[in-house]
Amino acid sequence: MRLPDFEYFEPETLQDAVSLLSKHKGKAKGLAGGTDLLPKLKRRVTVADALVNLQGISGLRSISEEKDILKIGALVTLGEMEESSFLKGNLSPLAQAAHAVGTVQLRNMATLGGNLCQDTRCLYYDHSHLFGQSVWEKCFKRGGAVCHLIKKGKKCFAVYSGDVAPVLLALGARVLVIGSAGERMLDLSQIYSGKGEQAYALSSEDLIAEIHVPKPSPLSYGAYVKYRERGSIDFPIVGVAAYLKVDGERINDANIWLTSVGSAPVEAIKAEAVLREANFSADLIEEASLQAHQEITPYPNHGYSAWYLKEMVTVFVKRACMKAWEDMKGGQA
Ligand SMILES: Cc1cc2nc3c(=O)[nH]c(=O)nc-3n(C[C@H](O)[C@H](O)[C@H](O)COP(=O)(O)OP(=O)(O)OC[C@H]3O[C@@H](n4cnc5c(N)ncnc54)[C@H](O)[C@@H]3O)c2cc1C
Ligand code: SF4
Repeated sequence: MRLPDFEYFEPETLQDAVSLLSKHKGKAKGLAGGTDLLPKLKRRVTVADALVNLQGISGLRSISEEKDILKIGALVTLGEMEESSFLKGNLSPLAQAAHAVGTVQLRNMATLGGNLCQDTRCLYYDHSHLFGQSVWEKCFKRGGAVCHLIKKGKKCFAVYSGDVAPVLLALGARVLVIGSAGERMLDLSQIYSGKGEQAYALSSEDLIAEIHVPKPSPLSYGAYVKYRERGSIDFPIVGVAAYLKVDGERINDANIWLTSVGSAPVEAIKAEAVLREANFSADLIEEASLQAHQEITPYPNHGYSAWYLKEMVTVFVKRACMKAWEDMKGGQA
């Protein structure tokens, strides 16, 4: 499959990149590693008149510490994250999540900014434009008024499948966004709209420059676990990040976020409430995972039934919490 024609720009500053995106009024896209965008352009499921390559912009490729904040530039690759000795030592779930993405070739190209802003995915929509075009009415994501996945559905059920966002969300990360009105800091959760057809609450000229991660307390332990078909390449079917802040056997705080269950990352608020201010036990983790089962209804957009995906939510929330807890125990040994 060939790429369509497009104008191509290589700005050297973020401001120039934003001006170019602004000039094209929603018809230009930022290009980082291209591992999500280029296949979608080839399949014509994403359309762009112009690409603004971000790779020539300096200052977006470092991982640095500033007081209690870790700053990760948007162009840092997932390969660099998984190899970072700082992340491996202090934020190993973040390195694990980066490592869980696709393949090594992909991670060498793919950036953190692109991973956070990847398009939502759908079994029906993510094909060549030729597939089913003569028989299928335009769905919500193509500007129509039907959904082929959920018959009689009143919205788009495409899923957000990024592996790294749940860990960053569990850590309370914020993002530095540059737009034509200047720069602003947002909670990472604020960039997700929750809408399958238009997954981001950012404007078409906004670019993420940096991701700011508060360094977790030394008493926090986390894990990222991912359920996928093939360990070597696939997107998550369910991905769960859990962070527990502990004091002895007591869990003082819990943060649990899931990916690939909805059009944005989803927080398991009731499961967190079960764990907060409670003493650790296997029964407690079981109860929390059953709460996650109650509160989270995954979109069945992976070829599996909603019932099965709900079961996997239970299993993987339990695994993530147990892994975080075992990490804490291992650290004490
Ligand atoms: C075979 C295959 C397997 C994959 N497996 C996984 C997987 O297991 N897990 C996973 O999470 N992903 C997976 N992906 C998706 C993708 O490779 C990753 O999400 C990757 O991190 C995207 O980063 P990129 O730099 O290549 O983004 P690009 O493709 O360059 O961009 C993706 C989107 O983000 C926007 N964007 C890029 N940078 C910025 C920025 N700084 N600010 C604002 N917007 C920006 C672009 O405009 C574009 O819309 C897979 C892709 C393929 C092809
Ligand atoms: S889930 Fe969204 S992209 Fe998929 S068929 Fe339904 S409307 Fe289209």
